Amino acid sequence: MNEYKIIKHQYDVVVVGAGGAGLRATLGMSAQGLKTACISKVFPTRSHTVAAQGGVGAALGNMGDGDKWEYHFYDTIKGSDWLGDQDAIEYMCKHAKESVIELEHFGVPFSRTEDGKIYQRPFGGHTINKGESMAHRACAAADRTGHAILHTLYQQCVRHQAEFYVEYIVIDLLKDPEGNICGVLAWCLDDGTLHEFQSHLVVMATGGYGRAFFSCTSAHTCTGDGNGMVLRAGLPLEDMEFIQFHPTGIYGAGCLITEGARGEGGYLTNAKGERFMERYAPAAKDLASRDVVSRAMTLEILEGRGVGEHKDHIYLHLEHIDAEILHERLPGISETAKIFSGVDVTQQPIPVLPTVHYNMGGIPTNYYGEVVVPSGKKEKKIVPGLMAIGEAACVSVHGANRLGTNSLLDLIVFGRAAAIQAGKLIKPNSPHKKLPEDVSQVALDRFDRIRNSNGATPTAKVLLALQKNMQNHCAVFRTEATLQKGIDELSNVKQLRDDLKVTDRSLIWNTDLVEALELDNLLLQSEVTLHSALARKESRGAHARDDFPDRDDKSWTKHTYASIDDGKVNLDYRDVTLKTLSSDVDSLPPVRRVY
Ligand SMILES: Cc1cc2nc3c(=O)[nH]c(=O)nc-3n(C[C@H](O)[C@H](O)[C@H](O)COP(=O)(O)OP(=O)(O)OC[C@H]3O[C@@H](n4cnc5c(N)ncnc54)[C@H](O)[C@@H]3O)c2cc1C
Repeated sequence: MNEYKIIKHQYDVVVVGAGGAGLRATLGMSAQGLKTACISKVFPTRSHTVAAQGGVGAALGNMGDGDKWEYHFYDTIKGSDWLGDQDAIEYMCKHAKESVIELEHFGVPFSRTEDGKIYQRPFGGHTINKGESMAHRACAAADRTGHAILHTLYQQCVRHQAEFYVEYIVIDLLKDPEGNICGVLAWCLDDGTLHEFQSHLVVMATGGYGRAFFSCTSAHTCTGDGNGMVLRAGLPLEDMEFIQFHPTGIYGAGCLITEGARGEGGYLTNAKGERFMERYAPAAKDLASRDVVSRAMTLEILEGRGVGEHKDHIYLHLEHIDAEILHERLPGISETAKIFSGVDVTQQPIPVLPTVHYNMGGIPTNYYGEVVVPSGKKEKKIVPGLMAIGEAACVSVHGANRLGTNSLLDLIVFGRAAAIQAGKLIKPNSPHKKLPEDVSQVALDRFDRIRNSNGATPTAKVLLALQKNMQNHCAVFRTEATLQKGIDELSNVKQLRDDLKVTDRSLIWNTDLVEALELDNLLLQSEVTLHSALARKESRGAHARDDFPDRDDKSWTKHTYASIDDGKVNLDYRDVTLKTLSSDVDSLPPVRRVY
């Protein structure tokens, strides 16, 4: 394998990913003088965060609703269906305000109220005083909030001389002879060189794995590569059974229509023209949590009340809203609806369907971003040298169901927390240990094997089989039979993968090979997702088991940890942290969840 040219680098920190989470961490780390490299397989401002529409959640109370972080804390726990860790949720909601104001000072062009404050709109599941009324908590830059945040963070990183490795794809984590994480191996798509990055700390900020499903709102790059690398390093992923279906993906195309559309007054109807959400969530109606709305829509369709020729979708109405307001507050989705469903939102309803949107599960961390593994029933132990943030991570603040606007918040709060923690753990420019010459060999062998795959099945075919399998057997409603079928069919998909053909053998802009590497990551994550979902014998948040319709607090107020050892999925568990971080707020014991 001497044909590979390996270039070596040393950094204090390597951040893998340049979405909102990766950039917020890179910024904080560089600003403290840590020698930081940020590696991204796409140009930073093309990361999926750019597509975030509706807003970032923080109880600023700018709209005169008397909002407080304690209400946000309550809503997030209820939204999580009591699977979120309450200490981490306290940390996030308490630090939301300063994190958003900081973004404003960095230069994020938020929409404004009449008196010049950050504009805030209502969003699903966000309320005042435990459901008394809807809160205005989503801080928005029209319906292009992620775009505004991502561009601002990138500019700030450049200002602080962060070093970027753009269009480099990270292949795997590296371990030193003691088995500790010591860096990553990456491939430069532009010139075909391989790069060994040694660092005191690796931060995974690689985003979600929506692309394991046939219909999703996420970008094609959302293949959860970091999660795949962590599984290959022998570490577990947490709560992988919890996959969020967003109620309003455009029928057929999957593109997102933000919940902000319902925040601005939009509503859903079935074939009878009925506003059916009134039956499922009498108080919050169309602004109930996403899992609740997605389930209600699916039931309406299953019971024959879907709209359209095949009665297989639902209508989202915005045509009653003043066209001026639509133009000012929802310009992006008005355009998306026109392009992808041919609908003029001022005149007609948009055809929509629940679509995979977000992964609540991921790499387990504490609220400083440090990767942890369970140690006994309740405790966790830190994995030295590794952090994870953003959608790739599971802190866990979203539990069984994430509230809209809480992901952008998670990115900036925990991206910032990780940077602060890194500053405590590492002295800038501290010396590196000498690594063995062949430290990259295992990662390189795998890369070489995939590159030279010489079977008969193209990557696209295996990927499609995988996506269809996940869509059909791990969707909004699940049963033992569907999940078992999913696991059985995954074996067939793996056989197809073993017969993979990579046609292009070059090292320069070889998208065939990129997709094969991504496929490998998606396969691993699908496997732990299916096994975690089969094991959890209850319904909670986004995990709706038809054969176990109730939440089972006695047996299942616990997190799932799934790892892969010698090709076999192992499951472990840790109790949910119901204790808060401080005495500022009382912990919330589990109660029935109604909207
Ligand atoms: C359409 C849409 C709208 C949304 N709207 C909202 C909203 O309004 N509010 C909200 O709170 N949340 C929203 N979300 C969710 C939220 O945007 C995402 O969860 C969040 O942006 C993820 O950010 P991230 O930094 O973790 O990852 P991403 O933004 O996905 O970035 C991942 C980064 O990792 C890099 N990467 C991945 N693999 C590799 C590899 N192997 N090598 C090198 N680099 C790699 C990529 O290049 C990229 O830079 C939305 C999501 C979608 C899909």
